[in-house]
Amino acid sequence: MESYLQLKHINKQFGQFTALNEINLAINQGELVCFLGPSGCGKTTLLRIIAGLEKQSSGTIIQQGLDISHRHPAERDYGIVFQSYALFPNLTIAKNIAYGLVNRKYGTDAIKTRVTELLNLVGLADSGDKYPTQMSGGQQQRIALARALATSPNLLLLDEPLSALDATVRVHLRNEICRLQKQLGLTTIMVTHDQEEALSIADRVVVMNHGIIEQIGSPLEIYRNPVSPFVADFVGKINCLDAIAEGNHWFRCGELRLQSQQKKRFKHGEKVKLYLRPEDRIIEQLPAHNDHCVGIIKHIEFLGGKCLAELEVSRLAHQSLQLQFSVNQMYDLNLKQGQSLPFAIRTDRIHVFSV
Ligand code: ATP
Repeated sequence: MESYLQLKHINKQFGQFTALNEINLAINQGELVCFLGPSGCGKTTLLRIIAGLEKQSSGTIIQQGLDISHRHPAERDYGIVFQSYALFPNLTIAKNIAYGLVNRKYGTDAIKTRVTELLNLVGLADSGDKYPTQMSGGQQQRIALARALATSPNLLLLDEPLSALDATVRVHLRNEICRLQKQLGLTTIMVTHDQEEALSIADRVVVMNHGIIEQIGSPLEIYRNPVSPFVADFVGKINCLDAIAEGNHWFRCGELRLQSQQKKRFKHGEKVKLYLRPEDRIIEQLPAHNDHCVGIIKHIEFLGGKCLAELEVSRLAHQSLQLQFSVNQMYDLNLKQGQSLPFAIRTDRIHVFSV
């Protein structure tokens, strides 16, 4: 099956500065894809290039089999929502939503019907006669979403649409976006620097760094199998331990020898970093042989339903590790600062990268 949108060899220079370097990406019909990365990695530039609001220095964009690389934004089929809601303050909510329909010369009755439909869709049925200043941030962003959807585009582009909202509204609205996107079967690209946001709603995440794509995959793939130290660090919490490769996938870390299940080979004696998620530890039925350790709890960070305990581990050359526990485990094990805790590392979950 042909992809809905294909980006081929997209490059973008701002003078001497390379903002995007050889971006290749195919997005399927009805997919929700998040561009995720730190500030300045190029995600907004890439979204603006897809919208035609920025011109690529080279490369091709194919939408539904058509080369749209040089089309004017008005001739492209998309709706867009920005971080700053960008509503017209002097127009009512209904007129804001109707804006694109008026421009496209829809009839008065058709506009009225469509605006009512969209107000219902975003849960603001009674607000058509109000003005943007009378609405909360979350409501204004729903209106911006309704306006973007007014002309029934096949592609929805969202540029950090939730970052100006407070935490509770953010979570609520991201679930709404996800529900609407699935209900309408709308191919959607959302830019975000918030990894939790990307992992929670995306079908696939595109992790970007310094103008390149580091990894493309489902949220679980990205979290479980990061392909680089950058992805491991940027997506979710992770521990990083210094170690030395000893051949046959064995690594020495302080007094411990750990065998990874990763296929990648490292030279004997090579310095490496072992990456391990805080939840990838064993505390019950510890292995009988000599490969578990005891950590001294230095600090406990309580995070609501779970906690992170930072341990100093003498057998790991006194390196620190953060291990995750549920609140029930925290009670049952009576976790507290200064306490010693035996545990083992889940070696099947270790990711190894060269230094
Ligand atoms: P943020 O999350 O901060 O918006 P981003 O990943 O969306 O970051 P972009 O806005 O795409 O990043 O910018 C990528 C890089 O290109 C940045 O270093 C930025 O300074 C640079 N850049 C963007 N627009 C221009 C421009 N018009 N002229 C010069 N440099 C630009």
